[in-house]
Parts: sequence; structure tokens; C-alpha cells
Amino acid sequence: MKGRLVALVGPEQVELHEYDLPEIPPGGALLKVRRANVCGSDLHIWHFLSVAFRDIAMGHEFVAEIAVLGEGLTTDSAGQPLQVGDRVAAVYYHTCLKCAPCGRGDFSMCANAVNSMALPPTSPPHFNGAFATHYYLSPGQFFYKVPDEISDAAVAGANCGLAQMIYSLDQVGVRRGLNVVIQGAGGLGLYAAAVANRSGANVIVVEKEAVRIESAKVFGAHHIVDMSELTTSQERTQRVLELTDGVGADVIIEVTGRSEAFAEAIEYARVGASIASVGNLNVGEKFELKFAPAWITRKQLRIVGVLRYDPWYLRDAIDFLADNRDRFPFDALTDREFTMDQITEALELSEARIVSRAAIIPA
Ligand SMILES: [Zn+2]
Ligand SMILES: [Zn+2]
Repeated sequence: MKGRLVALVGPEQVELHEYDLPEIPPGGALLKVRRANVCGSDLHIWHFLSVAFRDIAMGHEFVAEIAVLGEGLTTDSAGQPLQVGDRVAAVYYHTCLKCAPCGRGDFSMCANAVNSMALPPTSPPHFNGAFATHYYLSPGQFFYKVPDEISDAAVAGANCGLAQMIYSLDQVGVRRGLNVVIQGAGGLGLYAAAVANRSGANVIVVEKEAVRIESAKVFGAHHIVDMSELTTSQERTQRVLELTDGVGADVIIEVTGRSEAFAEAIEYARVGASIASVGNLNVGEKFELKFAPAWITRKQLRIVGVLRYDPWYLRDAIDFLADNRDRFPFDALTDREFTMDQITEALELSEARIVSRAAIIPA
């Protein structure tokens, strides 16, 4: 039997490739992809901006079902029994359990995390990306069963955006009573707002676009700092101070991908605040130093860079979706579906922000 996948072959150049489905080793599985989202980092990769991800099978944010179970694989990573046909969400990277970070329990920092994602699609097992009919789950890769009550549309973003945000908020100690500022109300920002809201925090979202502001309100923002009205960082900082009894934010979550947002986060911060830097991923991004580093010292700030998440946070993400499925419209985060043949259109419309979250349905 054969399957198809989206291969990246050059900057903004993708091709559909067809390959024999791979042999499944003991402990591994072959998954049939049900739905995969176009994530911001897919666009970054598509432009060849990531040196590690060029000759690859694209896509990493997805939900799938078990097509073939390798010998000895009888449960998911939480010990729930499995059978062919079960829906699952998989951690998109691998934890090797052999490198120095894995050895000290820092699974999100595994030195070999991206190895399987960076394999060329021309060599077996080929199916290392989610914009594909099938996905090769390697032995030891973490994955979890998806309960029936969660739709494909709601859960497809769990293994990237939602797990990432639950982990990020944990890293900076978001909890009841804290004033949490979220910079940006794209997919990550909306997940962050929902998780912070359910933690009991006071949720303040900074955003410019009207549609995103409306979404932020639906996803748990208590207050909005509207950048279209408050056009300078001084005005916005003043607003954050007003919303926090003149003290400043306890926690700031940066999910904009814009370097100037990092400088602004330092202005929002109260003395002793924590800042999670999550959105800024492009090392080529120029950064004009708008603040004196002395402010980090004087404000006694804790700045935490967050890339990936510890794998079991995916289980938390799935539980969060189940617990809050009537509270937040997670299904509505994807606004348009595409077939695999329409992949270029899906990437282009996502880039132009005509579509905010595109879903690829391999069928
Ligand atoms: Zn992603
Ligand atoms: Zn490792």
C-alpha cells in the first residue's frame, strides 16, 4: 500500500510524493492522519528560514488514528489500552532518553528532538510529517488517546499550540490572582488566555486586530489593551498599570514573534515579574535595544525562554480540551479546510492572514 506526503523541495516549493507505507518496528505505529493544521512555524519552514528543516516532510500539528500497531505496543503513553482505529495525538518531536538533557529530565530540551522531523522524505520511513495521509510514530515517541467527546478540529492543535501554552504558563507560575499579560491573540495567545483564565488569573491581552480582539474576549480575556487605539508603548504600559492597581504585570507571555514585544514586556513588568519568551523564534530578526539591561537587574526579572514542552503536557492539553469544551469554542480556531493538493494555497492564504488557521484534510 502507498501513501502520500507533502515534501518541501525548495523555498516556497512543495511537491506531493507517493511512497510505500513503511514497515513498523516493535513499539512503533503507523498512523492515518485525520487532520493537520498549518502552524506559524510551518510558514517559517516553508520559506527555508529554518536551517534544520529543509529537505523534509512538512506538518507537525495534527490528530490521527491508529492504522498499524507495532509488536508490543498495547497502550498509549499514559497506559490506556489501544486498538486499531483509536484516535490519538502525538508529541511532534522525539525524546531520545539518551542525551544529557533527557538524562537530567529536561525532556523539552532533548538534543535529538528534531532528528526524526528533519529526515528527508525520500528515505524510509518517509512519513515523518503530518501533511500526509500517514505518519510514522517511532518507538518511544509519546502519544495519547483522544476521548470521543473531543472533535478532530478541537484536538488537532493540542500537540503544538495548546500543550506549548500549558507548559509555558506553568514555567512562569501562572496561578489564581496573578495579573497575566498576553502579548498577541493569534492561536497561541488564545490558548494562553483560556488556560490563564481557568487558572483564576486576571487575563489582559494586548492585540491590534479587531477580529483577534473579539476572539480573545471569547477565549477568556478579562481586559484588552487595544494597540489600534493605544499606539505607543508608553500608552499601553500606562493601561497595563491602570489594570494592575499601578503595580504592573506579575507575568507576561510573549507570543507575537516580534522582537519589539520583548522590550515592551519589560515595561509592563512589575518588580519581580516573570516573562515567558515563546513567540520569538527567528534568529535573523533584528532587535534594537530599546531598554537598558539594567531594568532586568533593577526589576529583578525572571526571563524564561520556552521551546517545546515536556511530552506529558500533551495529556494535560487533551484533558483541558475535554474539561472546557463547552466553555471555549476550540473547533472555531480553524477557519478553513484544504485538501493535500491545495497545500500551496493553504500556505499562501495563511501567510496573507486571509485564513487564520488552515486545516489540511488528507482524505
Ligand atoms: Zn506548531
Ligand atoms: Zn534526548
